[in-house]
This record gives sequence, C-alpha cells and structure tokens, in this order.
Amino acid sequence: MNSDEIIKQIEDYLVPRFKLDLGEARLYYHLFRHSRLVGKHDVLVSITQLSEVLNCSKNAIKPRLRSLQEKHVIAVTNTGWAGTRIKVLLPAEVPGALPEKTAVESRDIETVDFYKDPRYRPAIIEREQGRCFYCRRTLTNEDSGLDHADPQKVHGTNSYRNIVAACHSCNSSKGDDKAEEFLPKLYRRGLISSTELEKRLADVDRLKQGLLRPII
Ligand SMILES: [Zn+2]
Repeated sequence: MNSDEIIKQIEDYLVPRFKLDLGEARLYYHLFRHSRLVGKHDVLVSITQLSEVLNCSKNAIKPRLRSLQEKHVIAVTNTGWAGTRIKVLLPAEVPGALPEKTAVESRDIETVDFYKDPRYRPAIIEREQGRCFYCRRTLTNEDSGLDHADPQKVHGTNSYRNIVAACHSCNSSKGDDKAEEFLPKLYRRGLISSTELEKRLADVDRLKQGLLRPII
C-alpha cells in the first residue's frame, strides 16, 4: 500500500468531495490508522473508546459513524458485545471519490512505474510465475528483486516492458549487461541449457514488444 498517495487522496478528494466535517474526518483518520494503515481491512472499536480517544461525547460519535456510513467511506459490518466492527474504505474504493482522470490513469499499465511503485511488484513476480526471469530458479521473499532488462545506464525504463523479477545472484552478476548479453553468460556457466537460452531470449523479445503484460 502506498500510504503517502492514499493520504493525499483522502485530503485532496475524499474529504472535500464527501464534505467530511472536522469530526468526521478525525474519526475516519482514526479508523484508517487502525485498519488499512496496518494492513487490515477492518477495525473493532467501542463507542466508549472512540469517545475517549477523540475527546468528545459518546453522543457525538454515533451520528458521525452514521454519516460516514451514508457517505460509503466506512461500513459497519458487525455490532456485538465485543464492539463494533468497521470496514474502512480507501478513496480508490469509494465510487466517485477520485476524479475520473486519476482513476483511468491508475489503471493505465503504460504509465505505471513497475520499479518504484511497490504495489505492482507482486504483479511482476506473478507474471514470471514466481521464477527468476533469467535462470528460472524459484524466487523466495528473501531471494527476489526487480531488475531492468535493459539497464538504467542505457536508459532502460521502469515499464513492464523492461522490469523483470530476478534472483539476487542474477541481479548482481548481470550488472550493466542487457538481458540478451547476460543470458548467454548464464548458458556458458552451465546455469541454463541451450534450449532454455533460446526460450529466454525469445521472452526478452516478447517482453520488449509489450507482449508480457502483468495483470494489475
Ligand atoms: Zn536467477
């Protein structure tokens, strides 16, 4: 999750578009802080606890929760003895919260920076079927990274047409080689077969032609 971007979207679009007043915005931020910001979709709260944390009366909390619900920025999913479970929606998940242009742009794969934006990293690894683009070794959390097929030194871009997932060994030994220069070296070192070399080179071609589109 790109929290910087989300906070900007809350400030720039969600709050003004849905006319969240100070109390509602404060409540939304509190709920956001304890759910989405820590990787959860919802948060369990009690009205008493909310009124203490937000320094207002219990009677002030309920209408704010109701108003946020009516604006579809939160959803109360369960109310029980343990408290109220609230699902918190991000601006991108609230219909009409973001301007049309931003929504379209965020889906336009050609404009996505696959190297710098961590949200798209899993899509690249998925495209590679969890394997290193070069040696096809299975990647793990500890042994995986993103690499430029055409290095940055020769103006390789951060597009899905140039960014691949690679194991650390390939990543570091590739250096400033282009993918098509590096793969024959792997073959000469006996790390891939001649058949695999041909397949890998064909994939480099397909990558550059934009035929290996990750699903975002
Ligand atoms: Zn590798």
